[in-house]
Amino acid sequence: MAERVRLLLLGGTGEAAALAARFAGDPRIEAITSLAGRTQAPAAIAGRLRTGGFGGADGLSAYLADEKIDLLIDATHPYAARMPHAAAEACIRRGVPRLRLLRPPWASIDGDRWIGASDMTDVTAKLPGLARRVFLTTGQRDLDVLAPLIDIWFLIRLIEPPVTPLPLALCEIRLARGPFRTKNEISLFRDHRIEALVSKNSGGEATYGKIEAARALGLPVVMVERPAAPTGETVGTIDACLAWLETRIS
Ligand code: NAP
Repeated sequence: MAERVRLLLLGGTGEAAALAARFAGDPRIEAITSLAGRTQAPAAIAGRLRTGGFGGADGLSAYLADEKIDLLIDATHPYAARMPHAAAEACIRRGVPRLRLLRPPWASIDGDRWIGASDMTDVTAKLPGLARRVFLTTGQRDLDVLAPLIDIWFLIRLIEPPVTPLPLALCEIRLARGPFRTKNEISLFRDHRIEALVSKNSGGEATYGKIEAARALGLPVVMVERPAAPTGETVGTIDACLAWLETRIS
């Protein structure tokens, strides 16, 4: 390995930003954070940053070689469906050790009324008859399939304004960035007379308030399942990620 370990950090999450801040203060590590570039105003990232897709496993494999990357930490979001697989493949090809930092999913507890959905098409099938007023928190992608639900009113929470008009007949957009407190989420549900929540199982604290709010109000949650993750070393916390790194650089 080179004197300073060259590390590629696949980001797009709060955990990745926290890791970048830790690496920026560590003289043993030269870290590059990579973002897809979807967010118009991403949160500030400490240290070196690159933005934009690599061009699949082939592109990433070439990047690993060009940048002489020693280690890769994949801290992409649990619902990033493609990047983790490309990272796994490229790292195998280049012999680069890879770790996935994957937030543990939430587990339902007593009082939760979760209804599993494999994807947004499945959400579309599950909503009619369940609710007429729905709080949708899955982001602005893949909403086209909901367009036929012309009798359902949606409250859609997004971090940034939609790039194109939403394809929904009845909806209100609410722009907000977490964390969200349960108390405020309950007020939001009540103010909009919400009858069901649609959520990803993102895990973590920042967006758990809506799950607690739905439980407190006895409302159903249509929970979109996570995409399949590649096999390989996976940890659930930043500390475990740092411990993995220590074993490779000390
Ligand atoms: P995805 O389906 O796995 O990625 C789609 C494509 O975007 C990838 O094939 C790759 O392009 C590029 N890409 C993704 N992450 C990248 C990264 N960190 N650096 C460089 N290129 C990246 O993921 P996604 O669902 O579109 O999410 C995009 C980004 O937003 C991810 O970094 C993820 O962490 C973050 N994010 C996603 C969600 C979500 O719900 N999906 C939520 C919050 C944050 P190439 O094939 O050209 O390399």
